[in-house]
Amino acid sequence: MPIERIDRRLTDFRDAMVDLQLRLGAIPAVAPSSGGEGEAGKAEAVLEFLQANGFSEVEVIKAPDLDAPAGYRPNILAFARGRSSARTVWIMTHLDVVPAGELSLWRGDPFKPWIESGKIYGRGVEDNQQDLVASIFAVKAFHDLGLKPKTDVGLALVADEETGSEKGIAYVLKHTNAFRPQDWIIVPDAGNEDGSLIEVAEKSILWLKFKTLGKQSHGSMPEKGINSFKAASYLVAKLDGLHAAFSDRDPLFDPPISTFEPTKKEANVPNINTIPGEDVFYMDSRILPRYPVEEIEAKIREFAAEIEKAFGVRITIEDMQRAPAAPPTRPDAPVVRALERAVAEVYGVKGKPMGIGGGTVAALFRRAGFEAACWSKLDETAHQPNEYCIIDNMVNNAKVFAHILLQD
Ligand SMILES: [Zn+2]
Repeated sequence: MPIERIDRRLTDFRDAMVDLQLRLGAIPAVAPSSGGEGEAGKAEAVLEFLQANGFSEVEVIKAPDLDAPAGYRPNILAFARGRSSARTVWIMTHLDVVPAGELSLWRGDPFKPWIESGKIYGRGVEDNQQDLVASIFAVKAFHDLGLKPKTDVGLALVADEETGSEKGIAYVLKHTNAFRPQDWIIVPDAGNEDGSLIEVAEKSILWLKFKTLGKQSHGSMPEKGINSFKAASYLVAKLDGLHAAFSDRDPLFDPPISTFEPTKKEANVPNINTIPGEDVFYMDSRILPRYPVEEIEAKIREFAAEIEKAFGVRITIEDMQRAPAAPPTRPDAPVVRALERAVAEVYGVKGKPMGIGGGTVAALFRRAGFEAACWSKLDETAHQPNEYCIIDNMVNNAKVFAHILLQD
């Protein structure tokens, strides 16, 4: 059975996979806007490996970037032909990593990855090298055994994921026709510890700043001023009414409701005996995709107008972040079904298509009209000190990808 031969081969690849992880982890690929040199050096190492390991076609799409010493940000598309070209199974991972952060919190050099009891430690080893390496070896297993996947395979190894994807997948989508609507697009850059989470949708994000202007006065003479903090407090309480106004539930999401939370609060007056004339607070909203963001904003302005009238204050509302949700991938889309089957085969786990609070790179595919699913079995140590990758996860995720490549 080809599936067993492939699984066995991937088990045997364990040391070679660790070796590639260690090599790539030693080449920092931090974005210029985060103080690094970009991904060109790491891309060279990846290209060398791809060319030696069975990828028939490799293309580099260079997004110009004068802040990078190379002058560009590399996006690699690597192909292996299958028995049919009716669709391409895409696995997209990213080359870039975030900076190490506070070095004293690390137990070793973040850019000299090290191994400790079944784990590789270092910056980028989980986010996103674990699955970058896994996807390369999934294809290499077919090549080395002289087997062909059911359909064509494309690995997209992109730049700039951590700082907005402008020079990464957004550039690739704009400048190529690589992706087709019938393709299966897998983004192993989000997941959970048991591998059950298949991310298919996200909520809209709306971050607002509320500035309430009243009139400053002495604490003993409130009638001579307008207490902006008191008015803002009534507004905060009123905004809780958004939950009732937009009360739909969607079991695809966890939590299944839209959330509207007052969060940050700026200091107003420094002393106790002054009525504050100005007050600033912020709200973080995560909104089910069925509600247009404009509808929420209109309701918020209505609430603010009522407070303005009741207290004689002026309230300005400013967008800090406004990201309407991408159209969701259907929970029964072929790529989701394929992942569910493979995850059950390899891990014995029932995959669960879910929506999350917002902000995955799959949204770029979804906005461009493609169905994409995020999946990985990982420990969510991304961006933390002592980031690690469980070596078993890397090997077994490669098996999940390989199983998908064998599906009809
Ligand atoms: Zn990532």
